[in-house]
Amino acid sequence: MNDSREIIIFDTTLRDGEQAPGCSMTIGEKLKIAHSLKELNVDVIEAGFAAASPGDFDAVSTIASEIDGPTICSLARCNESDIEKANEALKPNKNRRIHVFVATSEIHLKHKLNMAKDEVLKAAFEGVKMAKSFCENVEFSPEDASRTDHGFLTEVVDAAIEAGATTINVPDTVGYTIPYEFGELFNHLIKNCTNTENVIFSVHCHDDLGLSVANSLAAVESGARQIECTINGIGERAGNTSLEEVCMAIKTREEYFDFQTSIDSTKLYPTSRLVSSITGMHVPRNKAIVGDNAFAHEAGIHQHGMLRDSSTYEIMKPQDVGIARSNLVLGKHSGRHAFLDRINDLGFALEKDEIDPAFEEFKKLADRKKEIFDTDIEAIVLNADIANMSRWSLLDLETSSGSSWGSTASLKLKDSDDKIIERDNHDDPASGPIEAVFNIISDITGYALELVNFEIHSVSVGDDAQGEVTVTVGYDGQNYRGNGVSTDIIESGALAYLEVINRIERNQAKH
Ligand SMILES: [Zn+2]
Repeated sequence: MNDSREIIIFDTTLRDGEQAPGCSMTIGEKLKIAHSLKELNVDVIEAGFAAASPGDFDAVSTIASEIDGPTICSLARCNESDIEKANEALKPNKNRRIHVFVATSEIHLKHKLNMAKDEVLKAAFEGVKMAKSFCENVEFSPEDASRTDHGFLTEVVDAAIEAGATTINVPDTVGYTIPYEFGELFNHLIKNCTNTENVIFSVHCHDDLGLSVANSLAAVESGARQIECTINGIGERAGNTSLEEVCMAIKTREEYFDFQTSIDSTKLYPTSRLVSSITGMHVPRNKAIVGDNAFAHEAGIHQHGMLRDSSTYEIMKPQDVGIARSNLVLGKHSGRHAFLDRINDLGFALEKDEIDPAFEEFKKLADRKKEIFDTDIEAIVLNADIANMSRWSLLDLETSSGSSWGSTASLKLKDSDDKIIERDNHDDPASGPIEAVFNIISDITGYALELVNFEIHSVSVGDDAQGEVTVTVGYDGQNYRGNGVSTDIIESGALAYLEVINRIERNQAKH
């Protein structure tokens, strides 16, 4: 057993996280997240599954070429062409890992692979061996390990270690296990497998029963030294182990666990917001660590205690996870320097050519609002960022509604060739302003979308707070989400709808 107290953080936001419904990302978006994961100081970035599609291959190879520092990893099945593709995509980076997997549970063997046990053993051995011929650093996963017969699992792991695997990952693929049982499985494997001294055992959990963080911690207590996780816990179905939760549990209860990770916890909040903004997956308000209410104290008795000493009710400080406490400082009279300083404090970075448009946005907002909150700044930064990759933008919007005659709107859009298109529905009023705006946008862009969901959130506090609209639409058999932020909720809706169309176009450009 490995007696190091360092826990390796293996982030799979870009691979397992991206497999979540509605979370597919463009290469540019993936690269942005990879940069942010590097800033967060994760040890391993699983950049994708190179053999899955040409787009995945390009994403892995772009990240392998541009991200220097963390180990870059690609997933591969135990076959020649998958492993060759993974190796090819990872080649630009000397710090690379190939991660091969094969299912081992009875139920997967029978219904998915149609393979006998000795064939699976052979596939695991040959797969690891081949990966090893390309790259020293090889991880092996017996898929659905938590539902695999212990005796057979031991044999498979032995075969992978014999073939040269350096990391053995034990996935609870279907989110079925519970902490004590899962800890026992690690005890069993580490005790019964051969030559485990130089092998790192790893844990990979899903949250179907809400136990992924607890199961990961139980595995670590039983000898696992790598945790696979995703930002905001995004991933298939109920998602994966949440990186921010598991890392803050280890940090906050260090006196209990006596483990460390290399994560810079002050980057957790900005990274969480970036991932949520790119994928369109909202972080629930009450989510541990990064939710809006995670550090909010409403009840009078709490506030009183907090004023005396924050440790009365807080086990962590908001600053520890990158949430700035002093909220209302910036306003109309703040200069560019203060604006950029604040962006920096929040953990975001702007490219040179993004500064001017973002500062302009800020000035416009400061004209409409007395106080600018951190969440306002964040909304500006992320919007300005993503807008660089968008075909359509909103220039002007006017609506008017009356109970007797319905809602009319007039819109001015600009496309990426700077062509301005103006249109209204004055001759054909809709039943509400949002419907009017969406119809006109569909008309201009040529996208007839099916509205699946429409949500409004307040993203900042105060009377003139910004409202965020999230729309989910169906197009060509797939669901897409988009966000829009503005002090005017109809404008938020228009921005969200345009974002969806831009995302659809980015997605089409990718394939
Ligand atoms: Zn998974």
